[in-house]
Amino acid sequence: MWSADHLRFSFRLGASPKYPYRVTLFVFVTIFDGYVDEPALLGVPPYISPYPRLIAGVLEELEIPYEYITVDMWREGARPRGDVLVVTGGAIVPGRYLRGMPASVREIADVASAFKGVKIIGGPLVRFGITGRKDVSSLLRIFDHVVSRDLEAFLYELLGNGTPEDRWRTGEEWSRWLTLGAPMVRGHPDHGGMLIAEIETSRGCPRYISGGCSFCTEPLYGKPVFRPPEDIIGEIKALWENGVRHFRIGGQSCIFSYMAHGVGERERVRPNPRALRRLFQGIWKVAEPDVLHVDNANPAVMAEHEREAMEILDILVKYTTPGNVLALGMESADPVVIEANNLNAQPEEVMRAIEMVNEVGRERGENGMPRLLPGLNFLLGLRGERRETYTINMEFLRDVMRRGLLLRRINVRKVVPVRGEFRIKSTHLARKFRDEVRREIERKMLRDVVPWGTVLRNVWSEVHVGGYTYCRQVGTYPLTVVLPYRVPIGIPMDVKVVAHGDRSVTAVRYPVDPNTASLSELKAVPGVGEKRAARIIRMRPFHSLSEISSATGLSEEELSAFMSLSSSSSAPPPSPSSRGGRVRSRTSS
Ligand code: SF4
Repeated sequence: MWSADHLRFSFRLGASPKYPYRVTLFVFVTIFDGYVDEPALLGVPPYISPYPRLIAGVLEELEIPYEYITVDMWREGARPRGDVLVVTGGAIVPGRYLRGMPASVREIADVASAFKGVKIIGGPLVRFGITGRKDVSSLLRIFDHVVSRDLEAFLYELLGNGTPEDRWRTGEEWSRWLTLGAPMVRGHPDHGGMLIAEIETSRGCPRYISGGCSFCTEPLYGKPVFRPPEDIIGEIKALWENGVRHFRIGGQSCIFSYMAHGVGERERVRPNPRALRRLFQGIWKVAEPDVLHVDNANPAVMAEHEREAMEILDILVKYTTPGNVLALGMESADPVVIEANNLNAQPEEVMRAIEMVNEVGRERGENGMPRLLPGLNFLLGLRGERRETYTINMEFLRDVMRRGLLLRRINVRKVVPVRGEFRIKSTHLARKFRDEVRREIERKMLRDVVPWGTVLRNVWSEVHVGGYTYCRQVGTYPLTVVLPYRVPIGIPMDVKVVAHGDRSVTAVRYPVDPNTASLSELKAVPGVGEKRAARIIRMRPFHSLSEISSATGLSEEELSAFMSLSSSSSAPPPSPSSRGGRVRSRTSS
């Protein structure tokens, strides 16, 4: 509960001399996070997007008490309270989520309808709608204020000056509010666990001068605005001091275009390695992240400015943590589709970008994943799509395989019709393409990215599905790891890969302690099976692997690949004199 002391806040009713009075109000605000998923920004757990942090920054500056609830907390019974409800959200890119589904239109309507105070909504939901549902006007009618520009700037004007002005934030406000709002992360359910902060470096795409790719919303923001390295470093410092240990520098159209030269003059801007070095070096001066990853990259910029791009790749390999992925926006390899949608790169440029990342990033890092690999996005339903498009895309991927190059992830999805109408040419062929990518490319690729027996460190258990536990490392596009048994949710552990699916791997906890492991854990160890697992449980405790070898018929080598006796569980059997809790000391006899 909040106390009356915390509820007092005053503002001027209007900035003009006409309203010279300050009015004291008692205001408490609830920030409701419906989660965002945009082309250049993610805020679905374990991610927290900058939007609620910006709103919290305004409230911190105005000294207005608030609380933060997510749609998942609301699903579990939490309810907004106070006088003002601020809703942010909008998943405009269709995603597959392991947990933490973004709020639906219906859920947001339910939240708002039940709230008695002033209701304000903003974010991508207002600007672009929700995936597959562009018209959200009936939802918006429930709200007192619908903000189409920056919600936090509107809130600042409304609560700070009493003038509800829908405007964009300034660059200075952007960083100021993000830094001030950092303490709110402590209210996120994943705080202290998997929480990863999505960090924005810029807004907009340098390709805005040509209108950008036909389907993309980023060019609609106009000329890109970049945040200086010092501002981003300051924000990360504040988040670090508030307990965030994982960061993704993901809020940009292309990491290689950060503070690049020629923005506003040409689409393929010249990268600025100095700015990126300053940024990444600076981050490590104020924090020691467990995870530091990035997101999007424009392969055309990389291929056209190879020298600068290689320098940036070296910076990324040196200053980011393993398991990092550069998501390359290819969208299509078909020249007809590329032309019809003003896409950014030609297939040979994408191939060169894939080679460049492979040249520097394939080495395996401390967490078991390659340090830096490319990911690839394909879109279905773009203009000009034809039967041959699927074949051409498939041939491109086969060529990547033939060249022995690694891709961490291939994302095939439908275009979201935010900037116009898009239609898949043939649902049958699209499905066939998706299946072929999974069967023929992804499964094989996964075997090279994480071969059998790879030990993956710091894998967090996230959800139970039947008798299985689904887990992931924290990071950008983390691999789904399935344990064929249940373990408690929300714990980090090391696992060893024992099988491959199309887009996930099966693994077992590593190492397994035969003296304490459950039956299901033991029987999942390759070579053990049900009968041997039962025998191990019947005959334990063991004091050496050779004892288990005699009991099961498995060689010590086979056993040691997965098992280890912890020092406490493998301590020598207690001597008769120490049994029954009585210990005789030498001197007492
Ligand atoms: S390159 Fe295309 S897809 Fe990428 S941000 Fe720019 S307009 Fe969007």
